[in-house]
Amino acid sequence: TTREQWRLFNSSRVYMSDLESALHYSLRVEVASHPVISGERLTALKRYMSVLAKYFPGRPVVRGLLKTLDIWLQSQHGSEIKYSAFRDILDRTVENTDAVLPDVLRWVGCQGSQPHLRGYPCSVWTLFHVLTVQAKNTASSDPREVLQAMRSYVRSFFGCRECAAHFEGMAAESMHSVNTLSNAVLWLWSRHNRVNNRLAGALSEDPLFPKIQWPSPDQCPRCHGVRGKGEHSWNDEEVLAFLRSYFSSEHILYDYLE
Ligand code: FAD
Repeated sequence: TTREQWRLFNSSRVYMSDLESALHYSLRVEVASHPVISGERLTALKRYMSVLAKYFPGRPVVRGLLKTLDIWLQSQHGSEIKYSAFRDILDRTVENTDAVLPDVLRWVGCQGSQPHLRGYPCSVWTLFHVLTVQAKNTASSDPREVLQAMRSYVRSFFGCRECAAHFEGMAAESMHSVNTLSNAVLWLWSRHNRVNNRLAGALSEDPLFPKIQWPSPDQCPRCHGVRGKGEHSWNDEEVLAFLRSYFSSEHILYDYLE
């Protein structure tokens, strides 16, 4: 097989191709590994579909598909569903051409310098940052809705089980204290930085994309400050403003989508 071509991209932007690839991988690969879905997993899938249907800021056809999937799923009142029934809707086509949701993985902002680096886990973080920001913008009534959906999705389906255990630990420790939509955006950002801190220098780190406390002072000078003895501090107001702009739907690039 030939090595895929490197796609030029702007490393300070979010790409829709990564978000759609995240949907493709989660819904057609991770969820698909459970032919019958019941119990806690079924609840997790319902929560995940519900936030995707409400907040995924994608192309109209993709949003339409997510809404259709959500309506179907929420109307399943039995104790289990078959994945094949879910996939029949997922694979629907427009005018019998290609599936609405491309069944390819096309990483752009989440490209790794090696095939096993970045990609899907990068897109999962990106997806949930985007969703917390969208929930904030649409004044969702439940401040923890998106975080709960992420927590239960990761616990039930995320392929990296070690990651899921770590994330569940952080969620159990402090997710309950999130009481506003702004706090939800900031909670996910600060937990992501904790993970970055833990993984800096690890084998899973892409040398071209070192794990940093994000955003860097270059990306957001005003996010950074100093406390008393020259200690670093974050300016949460500025970080929130930065995240709300960085992950906003208006700021997403549609390059490389067919
Ligand atoms: P990622 O950390 O995936 O970040 C993607 C992009 O988000 C970055 O390129 C940057 O643009 C932006 N970003 C970076 N930091 C932040 C931030 N704080 N807030 C907002 N945006 C930010 N891997 C392990 O080896 N062990 C684990 O325990 C582990 N746990 C994980 C738990 C979860 C829930 C997830 C989704 C992934 C986990 N991973 C874990 C994978 C790991 O966190 C990275 O996703 C992976 O190593 C790829 O890193 P990356 O360089 O693409 O950057």
